[in-house]
Amino acid sequence: MAKGRVAVKKVSCEQCYFRCNTLCALALDEPCASFRPNTPEGLRPPSQLRFVFRAERRTQAAWAFPSAEEQAALHGG
Ligand code: SF4
Repeated sequence: MAKGRVAVKKVSCEQCYFRCNTLCALALDEPCASFRPNTPEGLRPPSQLRFVFRAERRTQAAWAFPSAEEQAALHGG
């Protein structure tokens, strides 16, 4: 598997900014791709995306919605 992939921790809707501020209208069993960590500062803008050159020939879709755990890692939750 690819090296350098960040280990992600499990998150829940109870840790989500939208749930904590009664802004979530979804009734899901697990966190969704909109997950944002609930911090005292509120919502923080995402960090600048890193530009990564692909070395291998593309065999999969170029982009997919991140998981809730990847969102948590991206936004520092
Ligand atoms: S992770 Fe998604 S479903 Fe869960 S509280 Fe946040 S916005 Fe709602």
